[in-house]
Amino acid sequence: MLHTALIERAAAARPHSGDAARNLSGCPALVLNADYTPLSYYPLSLWPWQTAIKAVFLERVDIIATYDREVHSPSLDMKIPSVIALRQYVRPSEFPAFTRFNLFLRDRFVCQYCGSPDQLTFDHVVPRRLGGRTTWENVSTACAPCNLRKGGRTPKQAHMRLMEEPIRPTTWQLQEKGRAFPPNYLHASWRDWLYWDVELES
Ligand SMILES: [Zn+2]
Repeated sequence: MLHTALIERAAAARPHSGDAARNLSGCPALVLNADYTPLSYYPLSLWPWQTAIKAVFLERVDIIATYDREVHSPSLDMKIPSVIALRQYVRPSEFPAFTRFNLFLRDRFVCQYCGSPDQLTFDHVVPRRLGGRTTWENVSTACAPCNLRKGGRTPKQAHMRLMEEPIRPTTWQLQEKGRAFPPNYLHASWRDWLYWDVELES
């Protein structure tokens, strides 16, 4: 096949001006699994447009929707994909990554002691000096004042109660929480693929 030549052409394809280049760099493609659900939610599976176009030429993905913008090269004009779907299904992981963002998301971005959304920090429920580990089950979101008040004590010792016991969420559970915190920027062509009931809720 002509794959290599095509990929080189895709890689050589450039938008017209510097301005366009800057804007194009903000044209990521939403990557769907072969079942047309996002490959991942947190973080949302997005590829730079160059990666998306390469994958198109490698026949690894199908284009579902495009931006109005095009890339041009002497032998190629192509609209930049805004939504692509993998041809081969990738089994999603059952559990999300243990990241700061995901932990805040699990706790809905509020202090688990007082409910404040301000000055959020991470609290080791069983303090590290008492052998507490940095795990989903032992770290909770806490505002700085609560964290300070609790100090190096357990909630019981500090007479403070957690609103929810910290658990390791499944990918699905985290996704449900995430519905209240959509990413700041969503391209119009992505919305249909993120949630089933967008129409019902709006
Ligand atoms: Zn608090």
